[in-house]
Amino acid sequence: MENANLWPARAEDPESQPSSAQIESPTVAVRPQPRLKPINRQQSVLRPVDVEQLVEADHPVRAIWELMGRLLPESFWAGIKAVEGIAGQAAFDPQLLTSLWVYAYSQQVSSAREIARLCQYHPAYQWLTGLEKINYHTLSDFRIRHQEALNQLFTQVLGLLSQAGLITLERVMHDGTKIKAFAADNSFHRQATLEEHLQKAREQVEQMSDPESEELTQRVIQARERALREKQQRLDSALKQLPQIQATTASEARASASDPEARIMQSKGGFAPGYNVQISTDATAKIIVGVGVSQAAADAAELVPALERIEANLGQTPQQMVVDNGFTNQTTIEAMADEPIDLIGALAEHSAQTEGALRKRGVSPEFFPQAFGYDPVADTYTCPAGQTLTYEGKEKKGTATRYRYRAKPSACQACPFKAQCCPENKKGRSMVRTEDSPAVAAFKAKMRTEAAQAIYKQRAGVAEFPNAWIKAKIGLRQFRLRGLAKVGLEALWACLTYNIQQWIRLVWRPQLVALKPSPS
Ligand code: SF4
Repeated sequence: MENANLWPARAEDPESQPSSAQIESPTVAVRPQPRLKPINRQQSVLRPVDVEQLVEADHPVRAIWELMGRLLPESFWAGIKAVEGIAGQAAFDPQLLTSLWVYAYSQQVSSAREIARLCQYHPAYQWLTGLEKINYHTLSDFRIRHQEALNQLFTQVLGLLSQAGLITLERVMHDGTKIKAFAADNSFHRQATLEEHLQKAREQVEQMSDPESEELTQRVIQARERALREKQQRLDSALKQLPQIQATTASEARASASDPEARIMQSKGGFAPGYNVQISTDATAKIIVGVGVSQAAADAAELVPALERIEANLGQTPQQMVVDNGFTNQTTIEAMADEPIDLIGALAEHSAQTEGALRKRGVSPEFFPQAFGYDPVADTYTCPAGQTLTYEGKEKKGTATRYRYRAKPSACQACPFKAQCCPENKKGRSMVRTEDSPAVAAFKAKMRTEAAQAIYKQRAGVAEFPNAWIKAKIGLRQFRLRGLAKVGLEALWACLTYNIQQWIRLVWRPQLVALKPSPS
């Protein structure tokens, strides 16, 4: 038997070999060779495929197909040139292409090549395509060609979820999450290096155009030329981004040669090139009601644009918006005070006069701010040694305006309490008086109430849920595309997929179960 040779234990295991005593004894049985199923890879098989049976009745791919059929906006068909009655290749149905992308994202697949490959053998993809092959260029182009139509589809899905009572806009939690750009950490360069690389790229393009430079096939030449021209465009774009980056940093600006619109951002893994994805989540059923992508490393200016997106998607703003202390600064709180929206959020403590900060600087508790008397008429402070601290200047920090006062350096140098009051200070002890605007004072008073604190405690559970889902379940930990507009589309596809998954879980599947005939 052919497989008997594939059983090494029989030959090498002395225990499996019959002993001479066993051979001599007719009563001891020898273990026979196992009989295994043969594998024949030389055969050709023709099998009937019932495409409809490739996936079970409650497979999510059926839900996605059904939903796309109901909701796909007509604008997806607008660019199709093939028409009935005129010769030419037929176009792929946008219902199929959107379904493929949504299903692929739900399975952590975000590569057009990978989808094209899966369409050749994976039952769910084959059910969608009806066993038709799809070129990855078709998929890749479709993902980025329909920005407006995709926005409309996102809105249509929100409408459906609203009808199902899964969106109420009574309370929306908003948060930002950093997602890595398609750029390496070492792709960031200063102006001189970018110009040097650009010059080299130009020279390489010129050499490629020289017919005597190398003997290459036309196809290879075209591919190399295309790659070099794209590199040249990226370097050009990186140089154009430098002034914008320079406005946000005190050191010499650096832009990425791989994705010029990416920015260095801090995330849990440290600093890396990325984008700041802003997601608003309705607390009723954790549905994403707005998504945007920003180049800003901080969230400070992101709340008002987030509200505008929600209004554009659903025709109204939320009754209440809950955010963390990255969003609550004076500008935002004052802007929100003009809106009929209840803002709930934490506040960052910016004061350098906190007890912890003063202790670190060696200030004794007897010389903490409460020991200094403020005279509002003279606008001065008086220190425990009787010296006057006069007004020096003001600055806006966080939610407040901070007014600074300082004692004369000569008075402090000669003071017997200097070691306890301002041990390392040579300019004279300073005091900061913080003044909140009415809107900020009202916000702070509200946030001191138990009711507001109880609402704020729910924030992380709601706001961070879709962020984690998009990274862990959809696999969007790094963008595959480059540039703000294209990564915005990737984020939109991911959030659309997330919402459709919630619809399948909360609406489609329960309806399917309800329709199932009960076993008699
Ligand atoms: S060190 Fe300066 S501010 Fe402090 S108690 Fe003495 S005089 Fe007053």
